Amino acid sequence: MDGTIFDIKKYSIHDGPGIRTTVFLKGCPLKCWWCQNPESQNPEPDLILEKSIKREFYSEPEPGKLYIGKKVTSDFVMQEIEKDLIFYDESGGGVTFSGGEPLMQPEFLFELLSRCRDMEIHTAVDTTGYADRNILAKISGVTSLFLYDIKLINSSEHKKYTGVEVEPVLNNLTFLAETGAHVIVRIPVIPGITDTETNISQIIDFLGTLGLKRVDLLPFNQFGFSKYKRIGLENKMKDSPAIEPEVTDLLKKRFEAEGFNVKIGG
Ligand code: SF4
Repeated sequence: MDGTIFDIKKYSIHDGPGIRTTVFLKGCPLKCWWCQNPESQNPEPDLILEKSIKREFYSEPEPGKLYIGKKVTSDFVMQEIEKDLIFYDESGGGVTFSGGEPLMQPEFLFELLSRCRDMEIHTAVDTTGYADRNILAKISGVTSLFLYDIKLINSSEHKKYTGVEVEPVLNNLTFLAETGAHVIVRIPVIPGITDTETNISQIIDFLGTLGLKRVDLLPFNQFGFSKYKRIGLENKMKDSPAIEPEVTDLLKKRFEAEGFNVKIGG
């Protein structure tokens, strides 16, 4: 089976436990203002508007026109994954499927997860949770761990900053918690948007009702922002400075005081 990816990152230590290979699938239903992977949003490869050298997961359908993203087979991805089996074994690591939103390519993702499971490779799916419930349920059956983003609880704010409604995200997280899936919640700490007292209190309350106590805080920075210009997308946060470490430290303490196990940076 084929799928479209835009990168495979080796030896990752921020995408789940241990040393991991992270496969980035193309396509995302959200348009977060702070997105560091804007090239992930379009399900199809993106034309690069500036002169650029060709990289591994760029395609060149005609000479001189470079696109970010490439169709690959599941066999190819599995070969890349299998090259690092020894690192997964020794570190308690595995494979993470990220994006974009990997659930946007459900059949490709399901096949890769199933093949990893058959080889006893630990898998993580890094998801927005904005997906069809039936797809999520099927994927959950072959996934070791979900890295599940919660950004904003307020419905209109979520719609404003991500482009989609929050209810499916919250309902799907409730479903995963109730069915006993292993979940780490990831919260992007975006200055003045997700780090407000109101939003943090609402997240703490919501996660408390689900009994989910493991949280990663992902501090905002401008890594990846040069990619907006390269593919012709507007960057609404180009002038926002990186978040101060003190802010994230305070948030960590806030969650810990409520009994959460918190890691900064994932
Ligand atoms: S969910 Fe992630 S990949 Fe999708 S737009 Fe938001 S930050 Fe970007």
